[in-house]
Amino acid sequence: MLPFFTADFGNAASRSHAFGWAADAAVEAARQQVALLIGATPKEIVFTSGATESNNLALFGVMQAAGATKRHLVISAIEHASVLETAAALSSAGFEVSTVGVPSDGVVRVSDVEAVLRPDTALVSIMAANNEIGTLAPLEAIGELCRGRGVYFHTDAAQAAGKIEIDVQRQHLDLVSLTAHKLYGPKGVGALYVRRRDPRVRLTPRSFGGGHERGFRSGTLPVPLIVGFGRACQLAAEVMPEEAARLLSLRTRLLSGLAGSLPGLVVHGDLERRLPGNLNVSFGELEAEPLLLSLRDFALSSGAACASATLSPSHVLRALGVPKELIHGSLRFGLGRGLTEDDIDLVVLRVVAAVSKLRDLLA
Ligand SMILES: *Cc1c(COP(=O)(O)O)cnc(C)c1O
Repeated sequence: MLPFFTADFGNAASRSHAFGWAADAAVEAARQQVALLIGATPKEIVFTSGATESNNLALFGVMQAAGATKRHLVISAIEHASVLETAAALSSAGFEVSTVGVPSDGVVRVSDVEAVLRPDTALVSIMAANNEIGTLAPLEAIGELCRGRGVYFHTDAAQAAGKIEIDVQRQHLDLVSLTAHKLYGPKGVGALYVRRRDPRVRLTPRSFGGGHERGFRSGTLPVPLIVGFGRACQLAAEVMPEEAARLLSLRTRLLSGLAGSLPGLVVHGDLERRLPGNLNVSFGELEAEPLLLSLRDFALSSGAACASATLSPSHVLRALGVPKELIHGSLRFGLGRGLTEDDIDLVVLRVVAAVSKLRDLLA
């Protein structure tokens, strides 16, 4: 990324000089790297500022382009705020939104999606992997259902891309949201995959101007961020199989370490259909806040990172039917690249000590 902040400072949209061509070449190389990660072609990748913008563009863009006879949108109850809030805004604007619930395992069922489809459904948006509990959606089956009904299928793959396989062909995906920083790239850049054929997605832009990114997203491209995003996608694809297996074994070690010393531990969400690097647990009725205070040297959180400033109980755990006392005590462990068995053993030791101490105080 560094040369593109300084020496190679060309604007990728400048067609009249070599500085612009070099920047454009770097952007196109990155576009190819991003496309490869999800089995897409480079022309189908629209660079954005991240998954929030991609989700907004996908939902608003498809619904606005869909026409008067297709006014219905389907989402799930455990979507990220950038999907939930966009759906709420669309609903206020006169579109109809159906929200599919989840059973206590946190996995969306295809039959529940099928049950709410209507002749006027334009779009189904179901996240690939949940950001709080890591549960995975049956993308291929939902994609097949949507394709058969002539409904576009969008997935928010911010958490899934680079961690588990995302394949726009096999999973019949028409739109996919990505963000670089969830796969070790820079913050402030992401992409929306927009299918070009079989079927071609009709999408109305949200921002207007110079017509960059096939007219879907005007504005000068952040070349250094895009270069970093591309390289991060390439690296993620390279290490994905080993890294997934490694994280799963570390998570198993973490869970057995915690469960072995802390009776009453509850795991939220299905353990099998789940991102390998996610564990979300409660320790009986213990509150998470005082626990987190005594574990401040670990990057742990309760609920979603973006919602941890507020104390509102997780909408994801509520959708699973988790009792309120357990929601307030939920702790989310995110395991990632560079983490070792020693790190896991240390966190187990410290969490067990912190929980035991708090339990003693309250006993
Ligand atoms: C992080 C995240 C987002 C938002 O990504 P930004 O880069 O903050 O825009 C959207 N959806 C999911 C599932 C996420 O985890």
